[in-house]
Amino acid sequence: MKQTKHLLSFLLAFGLFQSALTAQQQPNILFIFTDDHCEQALSAYDPSRISTPNMDRLANEGMRFTRCYVTNSICGPSRAVIQTGKYSHINGFFRNGLSFNGDQQTFPKLLQKAGYQTAVVGKWHLESTPQGFNHYDVLVGQGPYYNPPMITRGYDGEPVTLPNTGYTTDVITDKTLAWLKTDRDPDKPFMLMFQHKAPHRDWKPGPKYLNWLDDVTIPEPETLWDDYSGRTQSAARQAMEIKTHMTARDLKLEPRGNLNEEQWTHWNAAYKEKNEAYLAALPNMTEKEIIQWKYQRYVKDYLRCVKSVDDGIGRVLDYLDENGLTENTVVIYSSDQGWYLGEHGWFDKRWMYEESLKTPLMVRWPGVVKAGSVRDEIVSNLDFAETFLSIANIKIPDDMQGRSLEPLFRGRNPENWREAFYYHYYENPGGHNVSRQYGVTDGRYKLIHFYHLENEEIDDWELFDLEKDPNELHSVYGDPQYSKIQKQKHTQLNRLRKKYEVPEVDPVFNRRRRS
Ligand code: CA
Repeated sequence: MKQTKHLLSFLLAFGLFQSALTAQQQPNILFIFTDDHCEQALSAYDPSRISTPNMDRLANEGMRFTRCYVTNSICGPSRAVIQTGKYSHINGFFRNGLSFNGDQQTFPKLLQKAGYQTAVVGKWHLESTPQGFNHYDVLVGQGPYYNPPMITRGYDGEPVTLPNTGYTTDVITDKTLAWLKTDRDPDKPFMLMFQHKAPHRDWKPGPKYLNWLDDVTIPEPETLWDDYSGRTQSAARQAMEIKTHMTARDLKLEPRGNLNEEQWTHWNAAYKEKNEAYLAALPNMTEKEIIQWKYQRYVKDYLRCVKSVDDGIGRVLDYLDENGLTENTVVIYSSDQGWYLGEHGWFDKRWMYEESLKTPLMVRWPGVVKAGSVRDEIVSNLDFAETFLSIANIKIPDDMQGRSLEPLFRGRNPENWREAFYYHYYENPGGHNVSRQYGVTDGRYKLIHFYHLENEEIDDWELFDLEKDPNELHSVYGDPQYSKIQKQKHTQLNRLRKKYEVPEVDPVFNRRRRS
């Protein structure tokens, strides 16, 4: 009996030692991801419009990146890049509305194979059923802001769509917490993707924040009144201006949607009077005043959506704290791309211009990442898959196109870090009529080629000196003063297109002019 006890305590001690070792070698990964959340609405980056104390915890207790660029600034494609560590022309998901080929190699599959328990909760937006996940519970397509149906694995192993009641941001947070509390296998490391719909269009706030910011005036960006005169035709020909392209739904001037009785009562109490006052004043308002009203309505609703996301992140971080998970969990925060909060008069994304090229990136990894550190290297969503594998001590497949950020996390200065970045957007014809474009940037200079707009082939080039013209209002392409830089950028662009195996001819659509 005594011997058995000894043996048992030996085994227990050995077992604990084993799991401690595994835990250290394979930390948990919590990937917090939002949709269309820009740095201008995250106080660790820019405190002028909103305070996001829970997101800021990650920057204060971890590392913040100032130049995280996306390869293709649009929802679905960004997610496919993250799944695969490959550009759109390799992973096949060029534009929204396609169905992701989930049979290809993805990082969740590799983590799962290496012993991780994997889960994704919230927005998926890749159409095909998630593969490589022990658990999935995802929105149908974009998903609504209230009462979202969600798809999960049924008892028979097949996907089943189930109804939910409540504000979608809170529903996703509750489900994430429920998975951590009840479904997580404590004997395995986990990789959990906690992915919000918010603050995607049409920016519907949750019940808690419907009246928040009512008495505040949000500052207008410098470029709200941009007339697009300093660039080629594409900037002027888009359809994403606050002035012209916001719908009654965007502006909360249309009725109900899918809100239930109780939700509608709160909603009406928040908007009805304000809307009536606006509509009564409208005949006497100048064009400028109308744009300013729309801007305030839009940005406040966007910020209200962000606020609920921040609350949810706080609840999940608190759960990690209260359950001894903080120390051994790498928490990464990012969004699928940046966004225009009125810059250039716009909402939406897609452009290679700064606001939509950049996305927030913060990481907390206690004992590894130095608290409060900031890195300015060019990093990308192309690097996320490689980074997750590297964190888990898994070999990065040679065919992935990015690079692990782990050395940067560890405060190292890896050799030959990328000095220039390749961007490519394909969705035209498409929403908001943003020209197909590709280009290169090194953070100081940016060269963009616009090549297809409304079924026409075009051949427009823009070059920006971001130090002298950070708002990208004046292209200097063709300016003799920049001829040397222009030539260098063309060479760099060609080199990167070769390196990443970008097809000479756009693979998405037939590029011939339609008759
Ligand atoms: Ca998005």
